[in-house]
Amino acid sequence: KWEKFYPEIKDTVDPRFLLQQKFPVNQTLNNKVAIWRGDITTLEIDAIVNAANSSLLGGGGVDGAIHSAAGSGLRKENATLGGCRTGEAKLSTGHKMPCGFVLSTVGPIGEDPDALESCYKESLDLLKEVELKSIGFCCISTGIFGYPNRNAAEVALQTTREWMEKNHEKIDLIIFVIFLPVDWTIYTHLMPQYFPVE
Ligand code: ADP
Repeated sequence: KWEKFYPEIKDTVDPRFLLQQKFPVNQTLNNKVAIWRGDITTLEIDAIVNAANSSLLGGGGVDGAIHSAAGSGLRKENATLGGCRTGEAKLSTGHKMPCGFVLSTVGPIGEDPDALESCYKESLDLLKEVELKSIGFCCISTGIFGYPNRNAAEVALQTTREWMEKNHEKIDLIIFVIFLPVDWTIYTHLMPQYFPVE
């Protein structure tokens, strides 16, 4: 019967979990998280997160879009960073993009919740360490790296919520930057589970 009410989420969100609240209501945290659909390279924000590969020298998907928008300076800067392992995060500047900084992280190839959790945690820890206040995440690993979209979104939201519980005073804004319609559907349905409202 749920298909009648939520036809667009068939095969994307398990209906049994739709109305489940995974965390208590916390308006302070809610005020600092958002989903936004668009091109991450256009965001005027302290830092955007790149789903990079271990070389940090550019690739396809969002990585390609970020390197094109940033210009060759990003590649030159990244060449000095010694690469990046899966689950790590490295910091560079935004070059020609309106964001201040790029946080490059390398997601797992295929489904690996611990590695994906580490990407979100390491990015947020690094943001805090350098005292930046706002960050935009792309849907790490869900493109070329093939992580199932809904499971990846659950890891992203769970990890962010847990991190926010401890660190929300240090930051102002976390944006989940959505590119594909399928992820928009998933995030709009999962958000109320991880960041419920009254
Ligand atoms: P990965 O190799 O980690 O899977 P991809 O770049 O293939 O990385 O995909 C990660 C996510 O980034 C996907 O949801 C893809 O649709 C999205 N994406 C691609 N281009 C952009 C962009 N310009 N802005 C935001 N997200 C993007």
